[in-house]
Amino acid sequence: MFDLKVVVLLLIRPITSWKQKQNDMKSSKTISTSSLDVFKSQLHGELILPDSPDYNESRKVYNAMINKHPGMIAMCVDVSDVVACVNFARENSLLVAVRGGGHNGGGLGICDDGLVIDLSGLKNVRVDTTDNTVRVAGGNLWGEVDHATHAYGLAVPAGIISTTGVGGLTLGGGVGHLTRKYGLTIDNLLEADMVLANGKIVTVNKDNNADLFWAIHGGGGNFGIVTSFKFQAHPLSTVIGGPTLWPIEQTEEIMEWYHGFIHDAPEDLNGFIATMVIPGPPFPEFLHKKKFCGIVWCYTGDANKFEKLFQPVRDKKPVFELVGEMPYPAIQTLFDGLLPPGLQFYWRGDFFNELGPEVRKIHNKFGSAIPTLLSQMHMYPLSGAASKVSNTDTPWAYRDAKYAGVIVGIDPDPTKADEITAWCKNYWEALHPYSAGGSYSNFMMEEGQERVQASYKHNYARLVEIKKKYDPDNLFRVNQNIKPK
Ligand SMILES: Cc1cc2nc3c(=O)[nH]c(=O)nc-3n(C[C@H](O)[C@H](O)[C@H](O)COP(=O)(O)OP(=O)(O)OC[C@H]3O[C@@H](n4cnc5c(N)ncnc54)[C@H](O)[C@@H]3O)c2cc1C
Repeated sequence: MFDLKVVVLLLIRPITSWKQKQNDMKSSKTISTSSLDVFKSQLHGELILPDSPDYNESRKVYNAMINKHPGMIAMCVDVSDVVACVNFARENSLLVAVRGGGHNGGGLGICDDGLVIDLSGLKNVRVDTTDNTVRVAGGNLWGEVDHATHAYGLAVPAGIISTTGVGGLTLGGGVGHLTRKYGLTIDNLLEADMVLANGKIVTVNKDNNADLFWAIHGGGGNFGIVTSFKFQAHPLSTVIGGPTLWPIEQTEEIMEWYHGFIHDAPEDLNGFIATMVIPGPPFPEFLHKKKFCGIVWCYTGDANKFEKLFQPVRDKKPVFELVGEMPYPAIQTLFDGLLPPGLQFYWRGDFFNELGPEVRKIHNKFGSAIPTLLSQMHMYPLSGAASKVSNTDTPWAYRDAKYAGVIVGIDPDPTKADEITAWCKNYWEALHPYSAGGSYSNFMMEEGQERVQASYKHNYARLVEIKKKYDPDNLFRVNQNIKPK
């Protein structure tokens, strides 16, 4: 009957060019309404289609430069929903994107056509004080984890902003304020529940599916969908932290001093160095719209020892210092207000072993030419606890690098997209010859297979073997992709 044969065209974009048409013809699918009805009946969460009233809102991701049109978005609320999605996508050969917090710079939580498996309805954080561990659902954001753990005087190492997803940040590695003290986020990952490409649910830890457990310590979403993480948390309630700023003209001098200081400092002290603009309040007016070389500190040790430890920083006479004691969730939310969702972002990253004279000159040059108020460069130190893990213990292949660097062009105005992109690319191209070769995968956009391989370096071949075993048909390929073939 015609009724049963009615097809749902997952292609909803106007076809604007012949080339676009060719691309769409390759990836669009037709699904019978009966299959779609069966799929819907398996879901407890909503299935959003292109004609749904909230489709346009639901397809947004954090980076407004990304404008993709999925065929359908499944708003999963439980593990069964995730299993149903994986099975439906595999059986219908649909392109699959998995969205955790939706923060990925390259927009890897969304795709054109295909099925987006949205995990934002999978939220639950449970702290176990018997061993200071925390169970976190696959769709939680870091702010939600910090909120829950803080009540117990505990913290899990994450990044430097609270709105990032636990899923993407953890599976890529996780660098932030606690990296020197407690390592990367993956160094605190004890176990995960995953839905594999074949629809099976597995628990992975150092004893069960140890190969897969290794692979998710940095290998991204290539191997399955994590519905629950278990982390080691650490006793930490308050930190002493905040920024110190120097005029951008002092960038070379401050970077040279910083490189000599930070890696020998006690692991309790973390500080990432940046070139940046102070956009406006809450900073005082005399700083507004000026460019700076800044360091954002986070100290987790004995408060009585801080002043002495910090004196060398003060001896460098910053023009501004806003360093003080605060609850850990406060330092995690310090920059949330400056970076709401919906801005244009263009990212480039690399690992670095040093901050030599040529590198410092480049930072000075491009730091002095930051094109917009929110564009910035960060170098995160990788010494301390993160450097005690070997280059093969996890897929993170650059444990011996001194910095994970990232340059981000940012602005609310879409007409500035070209300008922030050009600044970011030029900055990166100037620095890249001095880099260690690859990048932290979470600081990359879609940059091609060579870059992915360079970033996993000697660990790439092992990741390929594990990918072949768990996802031989590359169902999970909207990510920094490990190709099974
Ligand atoms: C403002 C901002 C600040 C940031 N700061 C930091 C920082 O301090 N430290 C740091 O390390 N990184 C930082 N990042 C980078 C961040 O780690 C990545 O953008 C990361 O991919 C975000 O994860 P997400 O879940 O929000 O992203 P999404 O876009 O939802 O997903 C990113 C990738 O992870 C996969 N994925 C997500 N969840 C799961 C899951 N549960 N199971 C399987 N696959 C999954 C997706 O399929 C996709 O490939 C920052 C990003 C932004 C935008």
